[in-house]
Amino acid sequence: MYNYFMKALIVVDYQYDFADPKGSLYWPEGETLKDGIEKKVKEYRENNLPVVYTMDWHPENHCSFDIWPPHCVQNTRGAEILLDLNQADYIVKKGVEVDWDSYSGFNRQSDAQPLEDWLKEHNVDEVEVCGLVKQYCVDATYQDALKHGFKATIIEELVK
Ligand SMILES: [Zn+2]
Repeated sequence: MYNYFMKALIVVDYQYDFADPKGSLYWPEGETLKDGIEKKVKEYRENNLPVVYTMDWHPENHCSFDIWPPHCVQNTRGAEILLDLNQADYIVKKGVEVDWDSYSGFNRQSDAQPLEDWLKEHNVDEVEVCGLVKQYCVDATYQDALKHGFKATIIEELVK
């Protein structure tokens, strides 16, 4: 039983299609965040604080491809997270079902454990959010963190 609360880092969608200039939904300057995010992840790990990655993980015919160019298709290079997967304590896959999209890492996906439950189980009461893209998935994740009762901050220098 924990008798203290922890802060967790949530790195949103730092994936090839968003962060690499050759990605299908490349967000300008996304690649410039890599060193800073890696440094932040290391800081959390060194302090034994949990690190969560979120990722888009879309089927080929995903509903969001009506609005956006196809991106982060399951088992393709575009979906690859450009960070060391071994540094993540939990990885949330979003937009896994054909007819269901989610910008937020908190939106329930198929049978996976919801992020809010995972965080509560690990005695997290506060999150810091960074990654891509600020006005879509980063913001949606931040807003949902607040809705679920977590203290939340966006790390402004680590979002685009
Ligand atoms: Zn998507």
